[in-house]
Parts: sequence; structure tokens; C-alpha cells
Amino acid sequence: MQNKGWPQKKILKELEIRLAKDFAYESGRIIGSMCNNPHPLARKVYARYLEKNLGDVGLFPAVAELEKETIQMIGSFLSNREASGHIITGGTEANILALWAAKKSAKKEKPEVILPVSAHWSFDKAGDLLNIRIIRTRLDSKFQADVAAVTNAITPHTIAIVGIAGTTGLGAVDPIVRLSEVALDNDLYFHVDAAFGGFVLPFLKKLGVEVPVFDFEAPGVCSMTVDPHKMGLAPIPAGGILFRNKKIRELISWNVSYLAGGEAKHASIVGTRSGASVIAVWSLLKHLGKEGYERIVKRCMRLTWKLADEIKNIEGLEIMARPTMNIVGLTSHTLDVKRVAEELRLKGWAVALFPRHIRIVIMPYVQERHINKFLEDLKSITHEQR
Ligand code: PLP
Repeated sequence: MQNKGWPQKKILKELEIRLAKDFAYESGRIIGSMCNNPHPLARKVYARYLEKNLGDVGLFPAVAELEKETIQMIGSFLSNREASGHIITGGTEANILALWAAKKSAKKEKPEVILPVSAHWSFDKAGDLLNIRIIRTRLDSKFQADVAAVTNAITPHTIAIVGIAGTTGLGAVDPIVRLSEVALDNDLYFHVDAAFGGFVLPFLKKLGVEVPVFDFEAPGVCSMTVDPHKMGLAPIPAGGILFRNKKIRELISWNVSYLAGGEAKHASIVGTRSGASVIAVWSLLKHLGKEGYERIVKRCMRLTWKLADEIKNIEGLEIMARPTMNIVGLTSHTLDVKRVAEELRLKGWAVALFPRHIRIVIMPYVQERHINKFLEDLKSITHEQR
């Protein structure tokens, strides 16, 4: 580090130059990410309340109240106004917290958790951290968890099963009601990872799309991951963990005695945590309301369906499945999808590569003109590779 500090102006100039090579959401080139360009209101309130710390609720009781309301608002569109939880760092922390609660509630030796192969790798991190064996089960032909395979994988060590409502790779929704029955029949904790789908599925109904039960309406669901920093339009970090009730959240709550605001309980992995994130999510939910999110999801789905239809018309390309939400899986029987992804990257498109497909996510910042340009480039790449 240099001895003498730089003037602020110089720092800002330097940052502008240094950060210019990053991708920008406005360019529409980030077409394979689940993150978002935060809503202007969220940016404003986040910047205004940066100092708020929910690691010390005694100092910030008003923010703690907003967090309670935020969880209730999210719970209200996930069929559970009694839900108890937190706005935390992201889906990874939420999934770790869920498995932590499952472990505490089961108190079994050599614990095991069953989840479909489509589950996010945060569960592997959770397994490693919590010393839980992760058992991955196969999918059916619709890329959903195979319920028979889940049932067969249950052993005396099983403590929990996990279902995904919006898989990372394809946005597929597992049969949550049937998994819930399996969990109840076997006295197991059941967690639903709706990190992405939680802010999409509830707003799809308005489009006339039939949405299966994926939330607390299924009686076995103990907890859900729902991330505002994905389709909720909130700034990073804003993940969400919702427990069916306070009793389940209490399983992982930790007494912290030394705080300036007085003794408090933490049910998160981190101690100091962002109150600004909570305030931003609260503001967005109040400002956009159900109608606002419905409008956003409608726009994304219209573009998603257009993209999926046009991909089907490109010789050599196919889609993995009709999109359930704003995620398209692009694949081919004749071309090497890895090479297609590489060429797309060379043309400036940030797509996500999975073992058998390229994932495209139509987030709210993606415009029709971006899709048209993307299709144009895709056509020329596949034409060259045929
Ligand atoms: N769960 C699902 C279904 C996801 O798709 C993701 C990330 O894409 C996560 C969890 C992890 O979320 P985060 O990156 O916010 O930790």
C-alpha cells in the first residue's frame, strides 16, 4: 500500500478505468446469470441505510421490525403468514441454515440428506460443513426429482429430504406435494429450495400458467430458500430463509450476550449483517406489490417463450424442455454445446455452461433487442459449426 493517500477524485477515476472491463447488465450481454440489476428504489434506500447492522438488533430494533414484516410479506405469497426467518447473504447461507436446523431437529448419528442431482452445489458445502452425507438421487424424464428414487434412498440415518422449486440448470420444479408426503410418512425434515423460483412461481398464475403447489401449502415443508437478490430485484446480498414457524428457527438460534444493544439471538451464520439489505427488500415489496412482480415476470416469460420458440427453429439446436420459468436450456444432438458456448463467449455473451446444455436466463434487464441479437449470433455460430 502506498504511504500517501490518493485524493477521492483520483480514486473514482481509477475505479472507472479499472472496472470498465466488467460485464454490465444494461448491455444485455449477461444472459446466463440469476443475479440482477437492482431496482433504482432499492439502490437508493440501500445506500441511505448502509450503517444498519442486524447483528445487533438491540441497536436497530426498527430494522428488526422491518425484517419481520418482510418475512411476513414473502410468507404471504408462499402460503404461510406465520413463517419465521431472515434476510441473509444468499441462497447458499439459506440452504446451510436449513440443513443445520434439520440436523438439530433429528439428532441422529451419521446424518444423511437426500436431494436430487439437480440441487445446487451449496448443499454439498452444507454437507461438508455440517458433517452430513449428501445423497443425490436421479431425475425423471421431465428433469424433476424422481420420488421413487428418493423413497428408496431413505435409511435409518436420513434426517431430511430437499426439493427444488426452480432448479439452477433448467428452472424445473420438483413434485413438492409428493415429496412432502414422503417426508411426513417417514418423519423427516423437508426443505424446499426456491432461491430462484420463489419470486417467479407465485406470479406466474396471472399468466394463466398452471403452477403446482411448491410452498408451505404442502404440509411437510419445514423451510424454504427464497432469494430477493435473484428475481426479487434486490441488491446483493439478499437471500431469504423462511421456516414454517418460530419453533423451527429456534433450533439454530444462538444467544449472543456481549452486544452493545444488549443480549440477542442470532439464527444466521454471520454475526454482523446488513440491515440495508432488509430495508431494500422491504421497500421493493411495498413499492412493487404483487402486481409489480406479476408485470416483471410476465415480461420475462414473454421473452423466454419467444427465445425458446426461435431456438427450436435453428437447425441443429433444441431446447431441453419447455421453460417452466424464465430459464431456457439450449442443447444439441449434432453439435458440441461446449464449442457453441465458447463461440458465444467470444462474441461477448455471458452464458452459463452445464454438462449437457447452455443455460440462458431472461432476467428483467434483458430486452427484446438483446434476444434478437443473441439469436442472430447463435444462428451464425451454428451455421459455421454444421
Ligand atoms: N439455490 C438455487 C436453486 C440456486 O440456483 C442458487 C444460485 O444460483 C443457490 C441456491 C445459491 O444462491 P447464492 O448464489 O445466492 O448463494
